[in-house]
Amino acid sequence: MVEPFETSFGVEKKRRFLLVRLETTDGLEGYGECVASTEPLYSSETTATAREMLSRRFLPLLVRMRSPTLEKFSDATDSYRGQRMAKAAVETALVDLAAQGEGVSVSRFLGGHRRRVEVGVSVGIQPTIPALVRRVGRYLDDGYRRVKLKVRPGWDAAPVAAVRRAYPDLELWVDANQAYPTEAQKRIRVWAEKYRVSQVEQPFPERAIRAHAELARGARFRVCLDESIIDRVSLDDALAAGALTSLNVKTGRVGGLEVGRALARRAARAGVPSWVGGMLESGIGRAHNVHLASLPPFTLPADLSASERYYRQDLIERPFELGPGSTLEVPAGPGLGVRVREETLRRARRASRTFRR
Ligand SMILES: [Mg+2]
Repeated sequence: MVEPFETSFGVEKKRRFLLVRLETTDGLEGYGECVASTEPLYSSETTATAREMLSRRFLPLLVRMRSPTLEKFSDATDSYRGQRMAKAAVETALVDLAAQGEGVSVSRFLGGHRRRVEVGVSVGIQPTIPALVRRVGRYLDDGYRRVKLKVRPGWDAAPVAAVRRAYPDLELWVDANQAYPTEAQKRIRVWAEKYRVSQVEQPFPERAIRAHAELARGARFRVCLDESIIDRVSLDDALAAGALTSLNVKTGRVGGLEVGRALARRAARAGVPSWVGGMLESGIGRAHNVHLASLPPFTLPADLSASERYYRQDLIERPFELGPGSTLEVPAGPGLGVRVREETLRRARRASRTFRR
């Protein structure tokens, strides 16, 4: 990675990618990326558990199917609890193939129409407040319009105040990744409103729906849920409780692009806007996210920065670059619409397994 990324639960300095490549007999190739991390910090899944599930269950199951489709795959894996990141790695690759089969982009295949998607940048916890203010300034110079700060107890009011003072008009979000005890509601509300934070993401543990609902009541900022929402039931319950006024959708967390689209539509019907979150993906996962963010129910800027913000060398040939109005371009070619650097993959590869019919 270009620089370490620190959140309330830890620091990431390098990333190991777990990729799925599906090849059809007529020569098409579909790519998916599993967004699990090496450590079970953001979620209970890890690269190792996902690899185990992929190689012992999901991929053998897929190659045994007579003519595999998205629907058959999701039906066949439905009874396996959880493992959403592992399932999504296959689902996204299947969507890539299905879109190529129809000769359209993943965006079109899923019903998208936008050519560019609005994005913002997520800024990790920095060593000092001046370093944070400088870092934010650099991103604004790069052209990002919306900035999300990672916060945690002890790194909240003071850094948020400093960024607000330096950039009075900035659209400012914060994300705590579940770091606060539910009693912290009052304090969060005070600094968030004082420094005009427009969105507070997942301050409390994932099961703390009532605390999020209490925070959302009468708040002058949106309360966004990320880790709490993993499927339709969790979304419906949280909506009914009034626990969210914004929804972060991550393909890996919910088990695929089609589920992600369905959840965003459901939230939109309840008057709650959605946006696409990021998991430090390579260009492959990033491309899937950009296609997802191009769909109609996604109306808030996504956490999908240009490739150079994350990695010295990406796995795709033309890295994503920030364009006018803080946007990324939606690839227009069939499927994912990006070219994977096969040579880079070969050199970086630690292990691989092939499953054949
Ligand atoms: Mg988050």
